[in-house]
Amino acid sequence: MAERSQTAPEAGSDMGNDDAIGGNVSKYVVLPTGYCGQPKKGHLIFDACFESGNLGRVDQVSEFEFDLFIRPDTCNPRFRVWFNFTVENVKESQVREIVDPFSVVLRVIFNIVNFSKTKSLYRDGMAPMVKSTSRPKWTQQICPPWMIFTLCCLESSCPGKCGTQTRQRLPPKNVYYYRCPDHRKNYVMSFAFCFDREEDIYQFAYCYPYTYTRFQHYLDSLQKRNMDYFFREQLGQSVQQRQLDLLTITSPDNLREGAEQKVVFITGRVHPGETPSSFVCQGIIDFLISQHPIARVLREHLVFKIAPMLNPDGVYLGNYRCSLMGFDLNRHWLDPSPWAHPTLHGVKQLIIQMYNDPKTSLEFYIDIHAHSTMMNGFMYGNIFEDEERFQRQAVFPKLLCQNAEDFSYSSTSFNRDAVKAGTGRRFLGGLLDHTSYCYTLEVSFYSYTIGGTTAAVPYTEEAYMKLGRNVARTFLDYYRLNPMVEKVAIPMPRLRKGKPPSYKHSLLRGPASNHPNGKGDKKSSVNHKDPSNSF
Ligand SMILES: [Zn+2]
Repeated sequence: MAERSQTAPEAGSDMGNDDAIGGNVSKYVVLPTGYCGQPKKGHLIFDACFESGNLGRVDQVSEFEFDLFIRPDTCNPRFRVWFNFTVENVKESQVREIVDPFSVVLRVIFNIVNFSKTKSLYRDGMAPMVKSTSRPKWTQQICPPWMIFTLCCLESSCPGKCGTQTRQRLPPKNVYYYRCPDHRKNYVMSFAFCFDREEDIYQFAYCYPYTYTRFQHYLDSLQKRNMDYFFREQLGQSVQQRQLDLLTITSPDNLREGAEQKVVFITGRVHPGETPSSFVCQGIIDFLISQHPIARVLREHLVFKIAPMLNPDGVYLGNYRCSLMGFDLNRHWLDPSPWAHPTLHGVKQLIIQMYNDPKTSLEFYIDIHAHSTMMNGFMYGNIFEDEERFQRQAVFPKLLCQNAEDFSYSSTSFNRDAVKAGTGRRFLGGLLDHTSYCYTLEVSFYSYTIGGTTAAVPYTEEAYMKLGRNVARTFLDYYRLNPMVEKVAIPMPRLRKGKPPSYKHSLLRGPASNHPNGKGDKKSSVNHKDPSNSF
């Protein structure tokens, strides 16, 4: 391997010293060692000075190999996972050269060298996201195997006859994740890539980006529709004065003075790099505001309160886990400060206010995250001394497992780890009474497996949103509102076939439910690890 030479502005500092990274690279031109003239075509330009961008440093190893350093979260150097940057100024010789249909000249290797985690889905086949200006959607088709180092051109003139294969990520065989002796034995993710168009700007990211601005435009578009069952308000502001949005989705009848409310409270993006959280959340919102018969029934019976982006500063800045000031907000629920954690403080105040309102029954709290080492969607729940409550808590994830092929009940677990004490799920689980259930909903950054197979299916943006839709419709099953929907002409097809859920209906709450009487074995009924029960 070529000796590594540093060409970044921080040249001369310790290779692994993240303190040397002060911010994102800004149109940073990589010049060969010893080169003093004006940059030429082919001297790659790296940039991460845009919303949710992250790339802190570039070291050139050789003409076609680059070490890339993730910029640590602001005010917290411990977290280095999210990356999102562009590359441009590719020259002809770096562009793909097809010697014959089965041989492609490999042109560029990128090594991401300073991840703060060692365990990663890269071991399981995860690959970075890529798009380019002429193919601006992350959802891309990619050429047949002999060309798969690059994006599909999506044109009929493509010599590779594109369109035979659909992928959204780089092919896993071009991605390597290994412990590297050159980087203090840190784990390095290397990937090979061929640029195929000189004029294009290429963008690479850890996962599908979902920015604060995108989110604001999405909410603006919903507001313009003037739906009488959708309400948007500003619950507070972040440290950098960004909006903390709160949505209320329910039938106007439920908002009458003195009306009793059953509330489902949903939050997302407390960890800013966990972008799948926003896609799942958007899936929930899109479904709940739709004219689908199930959505109409849910709006009649429930009040959905949704704060989809709890950490707007972190999202904007391109952090992975922390806020602007370096706080992991999901560890500060016990005592959030109005000046250091204003968004968290605002949400907590609202929840406590609702909890103290005798007309309001806060029945569910779900906080949506993404997981960097696990497959599928799954949940974390709480452990209660009250066995009945503990078992009833398992009902929603079991029902969700019936509705969502990517949701795994066997990966769902319940804990009271000390390190999780400051999380929303743990804090609210301790605060709210026995009729409330608090969960963390996790979804893999990478993939899911479908029952009966072991093949990993990479998540698409649409698949994340579909999980959100399935979360929403599971409330219909939970509250046993299905008969209300059956009166409507359009039936909702079940997404999956299989045996009925193994829980006892007597454990269900809602108008038709009896009081729980199950006293079964907690381990066998709730915390089992038998994969056959996953689907
Ligand atoms: Zn998280």
